[in-house]
Amino acid sequence: MLRGQMMDQPLLISSLIAHADRCHPDTEIVSRTVEGPIHRYTYADAHARSRALAQALARLGVKPGDRVGTLAWNGYRHLELYYAVSGMGAVIHTINPRLFPDQLAYIVNHAEDAYVFFDLTFAPLVEKLAPHCKGVRGWVAMTDAAHLPDIPGVKPLCHEALLAAERGDYEWPRLDEWTASGLCYTSGTTGNPKGVLYSHRSTVLHAYAASLPDVFGASARETILPVVPMFHVNAWGVPYLATMNGCKLVFPGPALDGKSLYELFEAEKVTLTAGVPTVWLGLLAHMKANALRFSTLRRAVVGGSAAPPAMIRQFDEEFGVDCQHAWGMTEMSPLGTLLTLKGKHERLPADERFALRCKQGRTIYGVEMKIVDGGGRALPHDGKAFGDLHVRGPWITSGYFKGEGGNVLRDGWFPTGDVATIDADGFMQITDRSKDVIKSGGEWISSIDLENIAVAHPAIAEAAVIGVAHPKWDERPVVVAVKKPGAEVTRAALLAFYEGKVAKWMIPDDVIFVAELPHTATGKLSKLTLREQFRDYRLPSA
Ligand code: AMP
Repeated sequence: MLRGQMMDQPLLISSLIAHADRCHPDTEIVSRTVEGPIHRYTYADAHARSRALAQALARLGVKPGDRVGTLAWNGYRHLELYYAVSGMGAVIHTINPRLFPDQLAYIVNHAEDAYVFFDLTFAPLVEKLAPHCKGVRGWVAMTDAAHLPDIPGVKPLCHEALLAAERGDYEWPRLDEWTASGLCYTSGTTGNPKGVLYSHRSTVLHAYAASLPDVFGASARETILPVVPMFHVNAWGVPYLATMNGCKLVFPGPALDGKSLYELFEAEKVTLTAGVPTVWLGLLAHMKANALRFSTLRRAVVGGSAAPPAMIRQFDEEFGVDCQHAWGMTEMSPLGTLLTLKGKHERLPADERFALRCKQGRTIYGVEMKIVDGGGRALPHDGKAFGDLHVRGPWITSGYFKGEGGNVLRDGWFPTGDVATIDADGFMQITDRSKDVIKSGGEWISSIDLENIAVAHPAIAEAAVIGVAHPKWDERPVVVAVKKPGAEVTRAALLAFYEGKVAKWMIPDDVIFVAELPHTATGKLSKLTLREQFRDYRLPSA
């Protein structure tokens, strides 16, 4: 082998914030805070404070490889933790505060968090958790001395006091790029949550890929507001791609309702945003009710669960925002696909172009995908055949933290648990989760397709389709739906709405109207809970 002669310069997370400081020192980071006021500073400030925070962590005894937990909204102090903790060689463990307290305690203990930083909102949660997390050496309130909370049994440290005690002349260590940098636990629909351990290398490579023109198209001219939480797979990489490219960052803090988001979008002239479908339902409903328009927002990346076609259309046609569908998972850092059309697609008839835009997106360089049948045989990429989706790439996990779940790879590929089609242009479409697919008389019915039709009905706010046991067909689909406030639709009318939209045998057997659907801690429909709830449901057709 003739070895190349390029420098051995490791890909490090600290280099991202150092770059933002050098080349975009005056670019702003704006945060809505838990304490109330809007906070505003620059990349130069963020870098200086991240270095001081790393110094403070070292003084607290945090060592390379130690885990530091966060229970926090999207905000500037959380960003400083992203850089300080990873930058010093420790591991930032972003915890989803929406999980149940016993799951949270399990995660903190499993991760062996040395310290946990928390936003004031979560002080009551810390009070509950602390007695069950004896390994945590300190709980740090992400606030100033004036707002330091009283928590019975816990003497919280103060984020601002820790910073104020440091000179900030900290130099980032030159780490091996394979050093662990971050830890996220998957919401885990079965069994205990499992940890995914990212590295500096995987995080920086993911940030490069996420920045590409056909992915986030991140440039220094963009103002990005990540609605997706920093505790949900690193806010899809936005905190890293923003420093890499010098984008202005706007953090919504705890205020994720439609009105608060809309006001922040407008006040800060946001051009690009990202989040799960449920938050957009709230925002779009607020805008429609008040006849509001976006004046600067051009693109919204929607993922985490399937974006209903009706939402993609509404963004586009009513609000002039390009809604870009994306797919990924915790195990993938998370990005696997994002939807941008190719030049040749501009000539397609409108309905075909729209059908393409409803797919989960086009494969991003760095991620390889294949679909396989039950026997593990590869299926064609023709946009029709569907099978279990397997992936591999430099930002995809090779196994779970502490070896949980054993060897998860199949011939070097990670099985995603999703069922999908892939077409010749690399557009992937999820047809279901492997366990949500409805198996009726030997045929597979996509629950997602049936849900999309239900939510396209003007009277339906949200819908889930599950398979219910049937003596003859094994399973038959049932729609569990929530009506829009004040809207009316009967069971028969909703079932009739399916006619002509899917094959007759795919039309659900029944409709159950409910006041509310169960969601997981990451805002996805919890079909596991629904299936439990309706396990003994007797179909009229049974
Ligand atoms: P998580 O690790 O919590 O982000 O969950 C990952 C899972 O969410 C994926 O395996 C998919 O089942 C689902 N998911 C993510 N994005 C989408 C999408 N755009 N459409 C459908 N399902 C999605």
